[in-house]
Amino acid sequence: MALKPRPAVSEPDTAVTQHLITHRRELHAAPELSFKEVETAHYIAERLDTLGVDKLTQGVAGTGVVAEIRGQRPGRCVMVRADMDGLPLTETADVPFRSTRAGVMHACGHDVHMAIALELARWLAERRPELWGMVRFAFQPAEEQAGGAKPMIEAGALDGIDRVVGLHVWSQLPTGQVAIPPGVVMASADMFTLIIRGRGGHGAQPHLTVDAVVIAAEVVTALQTLVSRETSPVAPVVITLGSVHGGSAANIVAGEVVIQGTLRTFDADLRRHLLARIAQVAEGIAGTMRGHSEFRHDSGTPPTINDPAMATLVREAATGVVGQNAVVPLEPLMVGEDFAYFLEARPGCFFLLGGAPEGAPVVHHTPEFRIDERCLPIGFQVMTAAVLRLLEPD
Ligand SMILES: [Zn+2]
Ligand SMILES: [Zn+2]
Repeated sequence: MALKPRPAVSEPDTAVTQHLITHRRELHAAPELSFKEVETAHYIAERLDTLGVDKLTQGVAGTGVVAEIRGQRPGRCVMVRADMDGLPLTETADVPFRSTRAGVMHACGHDVHMAIALELARWLAERRPELWGMVRFAFQPAEEQAGGAKPMIEAGALDGIDRVVGLHVWSQLPTGQVAIPPGVVMASADMFTLIIRGRGGHGAQPHLTVDAVVIAAEVVTALQTLVSRETSPVAPVVITLGSVHGGSAANIVAGEVVIQGTLRTFDADLRRHLLARIAQVAEGIAGTMRGHSEFRHDSGTPPTINDPAMATLVREAATGVVGQNAVVPLEPLMVGEDFAYFLEARPGCFFLLGGAPEGAPVVHHTPEFRIDERCLPIGFQVMTAAVLRLLEPD
């Protein structure tokens, strides 16, 4: 009998759906914060071990888990990434699998990503004779703090890998739909701090002080002109200064003000330019007003940009599963995603899986966050078809 070109992805049977739901709910009930995914990692490693994966490594970049399944036919090496962390929120939904941990919640859907990856690992492990190449699963810690992807790469997660693929369930995209942008998917996300220093003193003797609050007020206003006056109106940029702290009393001139902000762009050059300009503008204004400004770059993720050729392959695979009309265009999102680091290093594709629940719309990173579990088998099928397509040799 001639071998089929690749293992066929058919409608998931009830066993597949059941596994997906069980994994998702068990993980959902026991969320852990970034870099603290100890029990989550244990749960994943235990199940991967039972499947008999070809290689299993724990403790990668702290709490990460990496596993490999090797096909018996030559082909490419593809990395599938699933992020593991929850968020510091208290879940409000009244569901039987509600978070059992006060103040911690899977409010971004990473439980969905892990469940799909686990089931895909099982599915592939049963099909080694038909399978081309090798699939490496990277269960990554700390996506929410943009801290997990980079150390995983440094620990060798991409060594020998040709292509990368990942997904994010999306509560604002209808269930049944997927979005696979050919280029920009998500924005860069940088966090920065500006420490404005003057000289404190008596509130009634301002001439003997250098008022850091007045300097900070000028800096806050001036930074918005980097968007409105220095950036092309057709290039989306956000500068948000979400926190300003300084001073201790109404009649004391503050000697120091700390401003914290975030920059979002879709363009790597613009990102670099604006980060430099934020520091420069703050320094210039503070200097003119007899003070100083110190710029600190706290963290940053590049924009998430798909390789057009990989996105085409994944779109073809997805079309075969959900049909052409359910593969929908997407306006790039201003949120950040540290899968960007994998895409900087290897050609690959990151796609969005529709999971909008019935009823009122819900937003990621809120205590009300929920997803429609019917997205689980769809996500599994699309991811499976995508991986099989990406594995194929030319
Ligand atoms: Zn998130
Ligand atoms: Zn997320």
